[in-house]
Amino acid sequence: MSRPDVVDSVVALRARIRDWRRDGLRIAMVPTMGALHDGHLSLVKIALERADRCVVSIFVNPTQFAPSEDLDKYPRQLERDLDMLAEAQADLAFTPDVSEMYAAGFATKISVGGPSAGLETAFRPTFFDGVATVVAKLLLQAAPDLAIFGEKDYQQLCVVRQLCRDLDMPVEIIGAPTIRDAHGLAMSSRNAYLDEAELEIARQLNLILREAAAALAAGANQQQTIAEAIRALTAAGFHKVDYVEARESLTLAPWRQDRVGRILAAAWLGKTRLIDNLEVPAV
Ligand code: AMP
Repeated sequence: MSRPDVVDSVVALRARIRDWRRDGLRIAMVPTMGALHDGHLSLVKIALERADRCVVSIFVNPTQFAPSEDLDKYPRQLERDLDMLAEAQADLAFTPDVSEMYAAGFATKISVGGPSAGLETAFRPTFFDGVATVVAKLLLQAAPDLAIFGEKDYQQLCVVRQLCRDLDMPVEIIGAPTIRDAHGLAMSSRNAYLDEAELEIARQLNLILREAAAALAAGANQQQTIAEAIRALTAAGFHKVDYVEARESLTLAPWRQDRVGRILAAAWLGKTRLIDNLEVPAV
């Protein structure tokens, strides 16, 4: 399988997109930070089911990392990523460097309200400004017909939908289901940080959320169910639980039992922070 073409400048990206447009092709974009795994490839598959061409961006976006976070040690493995994209039959990889995305003097920040309130923002206050700004840039650079984002980062998906709606961006945002390993652990580039013992503990996260989601769906008391999930995570070996919360699935407002909900969690194993979420059916 041949590797996708690689472009690292906005000018070259736009030239390729222009050629595809001239041929009347439908174009999908999959934004990533690289260190690709089967979760990312599932987004490419969905892209190619709905479009003629798929461009995958690989850019570790510094503006969404706080100074204390893992920007420097975030896994970078472009050659391997390109092999994986060949397998998935992606057409083009866009691999800008930081100066291409943020030229000297860059001074714009996009801040999305609504679904960005709480959850991740309570612990990573500048994260969604960084995400919204880079996603807006990528969507303006490639101008795709559709873009695919994973439900794995559920709050991010909601923020991106809000961003595109509010800015009248002519792009369809598609949410893709979370791809998990055989134990139900959501695939994540950050799982590479985990040793064997930590992996065992990490695999409890989805099980504990599954139990909590089932209890909520069966009408259990919300506060008690959440407190029990936090206790279970701590007992399983997570060192710190940032949050477990039930929210309304479309707006991320507090969950009411008659609405479809989402239970979302973030917890730490050593220096690694894991997130996951599951649907909570309406009672
Ligand atoms: P990242 O490279 O972590 O920024 O992720 C790029 C895209 O892949 C985002 O839309 C993520 O939500 C999505 N993604 C990451 N992990 C998974 C997964 N396990 N299943 C589905 N999508 C995922």
